[in-house]
Amino acid sequence: MSRYLVVAQGVTSSELTNADDWRWQLRNAVTSADGLARALVLTQAEIDGAARSEREGLPISITPYYLSLASHGDAACPIRMQCVPTIEEADASPGDLDDPLGEVAHEAAPHLIQRYPDRVLLLATDRCAVYCRFCTRSRMVGDGGGAVSLEQLAPALDYVHAHPEIRDVIISGGDPLAMATDRLERIVSAVRRIPTVETIRLATRVPVTLPMRITDELLRALRPHHPLWIMTHFNHPREVTNEARAACERLADAGFPVMNQTVLLRGVNDSADVLEALFRALVRVRVRPYYLLQADPVKGTGHLRTTIDEGLAIVASLQGRLSGIALPKFICDTPGGFGKVPLLPDYVVHRGCGRTTLKTFRGREVVYVDPPRGEGDNAAERATRIP
Ligand code: SF4
Repeated sequence: MSRYLVVAQGVTSSELTNADDWRWQLRNAVTSADGLARALVLTQAEIDGAARSEREGLPISITPYYLSLASHGDAACPIRMQCVPTIEEADASPGDLDDPLGEVAHEAAPHLIQRYPDRVLLLATDRCAVYCRFCTRSRMVGDGGGAVSLEQLAPALDYVHAHPEIRDVIISGGDPLAMATDRLERIVSAVRRIPTVETIRLATRVPVTLPMRITDELLRALRPHHPLWIMTHFNHPREVTNEARAACERLADAGFPVMNQTVLLRGVNDSADVLEALFRALVRVRVRPYYLLQADPVKGTGHLRTTIDEGLAIVASLQGRLSGIALPKFICDTPGGFGKVPLLPDYVVHRGCGRTTLKTFRGREVVYVDPPRGEGDNAAERATRIP
């Protein structure tokens, strides 16, 4: 607990005995430029960025736990870059968008986004334990609305009822696990009562930013609602702490599959070595690396984004280094909300006449011969042909 002392200045010692309680962490989150300046040695770009955040844009919130993982004096720290604003957020790059996934245009009902026929996103709160500087939903998270009541969600739930083709409901926000357990449980049960919904997913970053939130009370409340999947969001191996490991293992022990979506971020994790360490650490704690996401073009995040070519080069160098369970799909969620597209380095050297020449991770070219298809198809000739 002592490591939280650095960031919890001004808190009485009796209160500090509660530092492993998730509510204490939320109550004592750093939410101001002054709080940041007390906790860290800030650069001028961070001082100006924090002042700007207080006036406009994405607000600041960092739990004492997550801030304790950050470097006190190094602004290039990968934890710090994810949660401490800088003045570069004021710069818009070409192609930046307020709403990069076109969620407003795809709103099927209030608080409900539908971009695919069989699944929807239910936005249950605007609040998160930590506001990530690259957040796709920075246009609305932390805007003060708080948790959405069941009454306010009624039209969204009615819509799901009326559309039996929807099999999968992703409860997101903000972070639904930043809500009180009873409130979250009421929303999950309301979704579970819709007979055509097969899978419920909770999109949450609390295993990363507030791992003490994974309490027995929470697990007891969620367990009756299986199949319920947890979609979490680790970006750097330094985030896989003992506390995070315990949170992930408690979820796995309670039967919740835990999947991870990493966002590729410049200066944070844009290296094959860092991602390899992250994906290996996640598999060790029974979390499946599911997606590596090309960062969405959120307004003011150009300094945190990589190019697609850089991402492809990293993915190519991970191929063969990691097993299939540790290697996520590299995905670009297309601007405008038109759906996810997998991105793959080009492993096909040549294709035609039933032969495909493939390049392996060691650079060797190998021919795959298609099986016979119909009379007169001479597969034997194909197999022996010199390319
Ligand atoms: S936890 Fe998720 S929703 Fe909240 S700020 Fe971070 S990325 Fe955005």
